[in-house]
Amino acid sequence: MSRQDYALRIWGVRGTIPTPIGQTLRYGGNTVCLSADLGVERYLVLDCGTGLRMFGNAIASRQQGVERHYSVFLSHYHFDHIQGLPFFTPLYDAHSVITFHGFKSLGRPVRQVLEEFIAPPYFPVRLAGVPSKVNYVDADALPVTVSDVEVSCLPLRHPDGSLSYRLRHEGKTIVFATDHEFGDEATDNALVRFSEGADHLIYDATYQQSEYESLRRGWGHSTWYAAVNTARQAKVKNLILFHHHPDHSDRELDEILKVARRDFPATEIAQEGMELRF
Ligand SMILES: [Zn+2]
Ligand SMILES: [Zn+2]
Repeated sequence: MSRQDYALRIWGVRGTIPTPIGQTLRYGGNTVCLSADLGVERYLVLDCGTGLRMFGNAIASRQQGVERHYSVFLSHYHFDHIQGLPFFTPLYDAHSVITFHGFKSLGRPVRQVLEEFIAPPYFPVRLAGVPSKVNYVDADALPVTVSDVEVSCLPLRHPDGSLSYRLRHEGKTIVFATDHEFGDEATDNALVRFSEGADHLIYDATYQQSEYESLRRGWGHSTWYAAVNTARQAKVKNLILFHHHPDHSDRELDEILKVARRDFPATEIAQEGMELRF
């Protein structure tokens, strides 16, 4: 029997804050979220930015009263990666079983971080009391298996920390490396090894080189140029520029893509609705 491909769908591409304005709508204005349907009512989710609401709505349009399992992997807890969570309809469905994987931040386990965030006065409903069955797993160095996908993580360089996730399924690999500032040799080399030969590398390309050099060093993000360098060193098949700056219009992103492709032809730029096969 031939292998069953999965599709990782991108629901949110934007870093920092949603950008619902005309000049950014082609690539998309929602913050970070991706999901893969692994069949038999099992879903893998990467990050819970505002794109998560659209994924939840897509699920809500399916048959009701069915038990569904969600394995959610959080890169970190900055707003643009969790702000969609209170509006994720499966949270409020008693048939949902949701497992959050994330790292212990400032001594607080993932459960505590999320339960403090989804509670008054920030939100009128408490995560601690939602009807779905919610589990929490503090990430460690060991891979986790979800259905037949192996998920591994690697720490990145970012204020308050961030994790890269690698999804492996029957010889195909996707690396999700958002919110990472290049320039620390040990971390960069570790990410190259982690991404070696990947089919898709999704990489933080928040800044233009000039923006990074003049203003944003130490803010925890990278450039398309760092993305291309990593893709080349890791010999990945396909590079996806990700975590678009809120001030970058569709036109500027077109321009970044054009320039990046001169150095690494197999480059794409993340767009809402894009699907990566693995
Ligand atoms: Zn971010
Ligand atoms: Zn961040």
